[in-house]
Amino acid sequence: MHSWMDNCLRELEGKQAHDLLFIEKMKNYSSESSSCSRERCVWVPGPVIVGAGPSGLATAAYLKEKGVPSLILERYNCIASLWQLKTYDRLHLHLPKQFCELPLMGFPCDFPTYPTKQQFIEYLERYAERFAIRPRFNESVRHAEFDGSLGFWKVRSFNREVATEFVCRWLIVATGENAEAVVPEIEGTGEFGGTVKHTSLYKSGEEFRGKRVLVVGCGNSGMEVCLDLCNHNATPSLVVRDTVHILPREMLGKSTFGLSMWLLKWLPIRFVDQFLLIVSWFMLGDTARFGLDRPKLGPLQLKNLSGKTPVLDVGTLAKIKSGHIKVRPGIKRLKRYTVEFVDRRTENFDAIILATGYKSNVPYWLKEGDMFSKKDGFPTKPFPNGWKGENGLYAVGFTKRGLLGTSMDAKRIAEDIERCWKAKHSTTFSLSLNVPRSNS
Ligand SMILES: Cc1cc2nc3c(=O)[nH]c(=O)nc-3n(C[C@H](O)[C@H](O)[C@H](O)COP(=O)(O)OP(=O)(O)OC[C@H]3O[C@@H](n4cnc5c(N)ncnc54)[C@H](O)[C@@H]3O)c2cc1C
Repeated sequence: MHSWMDNCLRELEGKQAHDLLFIEKMKNYSSESSSCSRERCVWVPGPVIVGAGPSGLATAAYLKEKGVPSLILERYNCIASLWQLKTYDRLHLHLPKQFCELPLMGFPCDFPTYPTKQQFIEYLERYAERFAIRPRFNESVRHAEFDGSLGFWKVRSFNREVATEFVCRWLIVATGENAEAVVPEIEGTGEFGGTVKHTSLYKSGEEFRGKRVLVVGCGNSGMEVCLDLCNHNATPSLVVRDTVHILPREMLGKSTFGLSMWLLKWLPIRFVDQFLLIVSWFMLGDTARFGLDRPKLGPLQLKNLSGKTPVLDVGTLAKIKSGHIKVRPGIKRLKRYTVEFVDRRTENFDAIILATGYKSNVPYWLKEGDMFSKKDGFPTKPFPNGWKGENGLYAVGFTKRGLLGTSMDAKRIAEDIERCWKAKHSTTFSLSLNVPRSNS
């Protein structure tokens, strides 16, 4: 018999002599589970949260407030790995700070309207400290499945090659909409002689000073990277394959996002879209003249339907207008230092930056029914109903509504688990055996 399970059962029998069904299940589990004979098993009394980004932290904080301990598993050795390890130096929050606060703790008053990446990270560090959230770092979750006979989730995680199986009643998926970089297959990539990197590896234009750089993708990141390259005396071109809504970051003295939210309280979405497009036209001109055609659907309707975020311009458009940034169509193929575009034009470049976005990694590790789409790894139920699945499974931060969506999910999840926790807590879940460092 495995020593962990021995300990586990001894404690259980002491503390929970009344819960015979539970003890029986755990005994059976120990003798049946072949995986446990090879790897460490850890029983977690509260929920396991996968991912220590803003969503995981917000949920742990809410749970903590309600007296429910939780354990966060994070694959990297820091919180908010997307922000700390995979974003460029000049990044600021795209939205004003009041729309990016996590629940229960606001930003410091002296932070600017659009905090820098470093300030946002500082805020998250303080947030984790304030709620005594101590994730278990370097734990990469590779498999999670509900064991129907046991009535628990089994979450298999690897710290380097050492496997641990966490057993818990609730599993909260907080791995994010941006878990893995999307790298498109471009013919001839292997032949290309210059650097090719995804924006998740781009830090600053410094290393591209004096170079010709092709940026692929015209979302917020692609546009901002182009601007950064200009500011470092590189010569960027921007591949724009699709239509895109570019809006000024501020209009009529207010943030475009804030103004839109306010108008939506009073007006139907298509009127607000029309308003945004008219003001944008006055402020930015006809973007189609510069190769940036607008989609047929308005920016907010498009965001609602497809999740595609409008670009909030922070100065890139002026550089496109002045010719410092050239707009190019899709790439056909790459050669040694040459890019052939779909319009057959060819041009030489020293480097290519792929601002081609991210994807969810949930289908790779979570084995469950139909809460998450196998195709894109997002909840199948549309917002605001995607946060809860079967058997104590939850999702936080998959609303395509940034940190505002995260706060809403985190609150609902914590309230839901609290109800169950309070009902059972004095009996089944009061054990604290071999419990790893948790946020209790
Ligand atoms: C450049 C950029 C700028 C942005 N600006 C804004 C903004 O201004 N406002 C806004 O609201 N939103 C913004 N966003 C969206 C942003 O992604 C989210 O708001 C926020 O980071 C989401 O937090 P999250 O915790 O859901 O996901 P993430 O921040 O991605 O955190 C997920 C965590 O899960 C971990 N993880 C993933 N898979 C595993 C696994 N299998 N095992 C263990 N751990 C795992 C990751 O390492 C990561 O730490 C921006 C995004 C980007 C890329």
